[in-house]
Amino acid sequence: MYIVQVASECAPVIKAGGLGDVVYGLSRDLDMRGHTVELILPMYDCMRYDHIWGLHEAYRDLMVPWYEGAICCQVFCGWVYGRLCFFIQPQSDDRFFDRGCYYGCSDDNFRFAFFSKAALEFLLKSNKRPDVIHCHDWQTGLVPVMLFEIYKYHGMEYQRVCYTVHNFKHQGMGGSEILAATGLNQDAYYFQPDRLRDDFNPFAINFMKGGITYSNFVTTVSPHYAWEARFSEEGYGLGHTLHVHQDRFRGVLNGIDYDVWNPQSDRYIPNHFSVDDLTGKAKNKKALQEGLLLRESDRPLISFIGRLDEQKGVHLVHHALYHTLNQGAQFVLLGSATESGINAHFQHEKQFLNDNPDCHLELGFNEELSHLIYAGADMIIVPSNYEPCGLTQMIGLRYGTVPIVRGVGGLLDTVFDRDYEGIKPLEERNGYVFYQTDTQALESAMDRAIGLYQHAPELYEKFVLQGMNYDYSWNHPGEEYLKIYDFIRHR
Ligand code: ADP
Repeated sequence: MYIVQVASECAPVIKAGGLGDVVYGLSRDLDMRGHTVELILPMYDCMRYDHIWGLHEAYRDLMVPWYEGAICCQVFCGWVYGRLCFFIQPQSDDRFFDRGCYYGCSDDNFRFAFFSKAALEFLLKSNKRPDVIHCHDWQTGLVPVMLFEIYKYHGMEYQRVCYTVHNFKHQGMGGSEILAATGLNQDAYYFQPDRLRDDFNPFAINFMKGGITYSNFVTTVSPHYAWEARFSEEGYGLGHTLHVHQDRFRGVLNGIDYDVWNPQSDRYIPNHFSVDDLTGKAKNKKALQEGLLLRESDRPLISFIGRLDEQKGVHLVHHALYHTLNQGAQFVLLGSATESGINAHFQHEKQFLNDNPDCHLELGFNEELSHLIYAGADMIIVPSNYEPCGLTQMIGLRYGTVPIVRGVGGLLDTVFDRDYEGIKPLEERNGYVFYQTDTQALESAMDRAIGLYQHAPELYEKFVLQGMNYDYSWNHPGEEYLKIYDFIRHR
């Protein structure tokens, strides 16, 4: 099969969060199964060019229709750890991808509407006719809309679209200018409630709603989040749209790339280890303590890795830090905040705790350090308010780092409480789960984990190995996606 992924991220060259990991990991899995996979991405000025091999011009002067005229783009092509990627570089005063950031501009809706249009135009002009176009999140929600309303009539009638929602909160909105810019035009047609009109703002079109309405199949990133999106406020107003399209909507649990996240071969960690021998893990803990100037000690080391924002339960992250210190344990945080208030808060904490030998706050994005933390920490907390899938708990499990998570979304599909799990037998449980958003709930889960570590080290080690034995690779989800692709191709 020939599959083209259209996305705003692909790890490690463009990574703001889990989306990048998923786009890369899924592509690699499909590739390994013998399918042809190509990726179309924006050519951001700030992406990690050091992760691209053989970057060269692949298509010169691609004229992408935009409003009444066109924007000229160069398309570059290169390899990202074996994946063939095409990068779109528009040349206009808008400087869509020369902003020193991936997201967070006031015209993000125009930037990614343009990217979606350019991706289709590139496929059309370069005579690429994939069996399946797989798009991701609101940034590419307009791809199926434009494919089936415009490009289908220009020689792309056989292409099918699978659309994956990684987070329902961010949906991408715009007014009729987006329709004018992309050539969709016809306000009266697209502002129909069964097409793009937002269900709550009659003056807005909703990119994600368009993606759901027009795609041949829609997935989200875990079965539990799929349920939450339909039946709770987690759908952020798209519950009705999902209900209408329920026959072609499903949750497929993300995987993690077992080659990238492999404690036996990880190039960013000094000591390799496996289920057969955990001594490397203990050495990594020492290396982590040394590298971050923490006191060397056997006390449990608890970590947090993730974006510092409301979604991730920042108030609980803050509480976990102080609770850890009160319990005589150590805490390492690696996170970046885009919201200035949250950023200021953690900057302040960092200064305040600067001389504390039992904790370290690293504010920013640091791929290399994240690997060492997964490998060296004993536990990882994921106290999210909501969590579509969550990768950090799965990576933690792979590295023998016990997850302590709030029971929402994909966390519920992947972590099974050692003491209170109802379905799994004791030898298949792998972490600690709490449900409420108050601090006591978090504390009680943390105390159970710390208690086992301190008072029953043999049981704790056995528990760590149980977690490491879980298979959260792309093996299973890769198969699921292939079934979906096959299904939509033959309909
Ligand atoms: P989300 O997509 O909501 O940000 P996920 O748990 O799905 O969260 O994925 C997060 C990914 O990003 C993981 O691979 C995690 O290791 C990585 N990550 C998050 N924050 C950082 C950071 N500050 N530095 C390095 N890696 C990070």
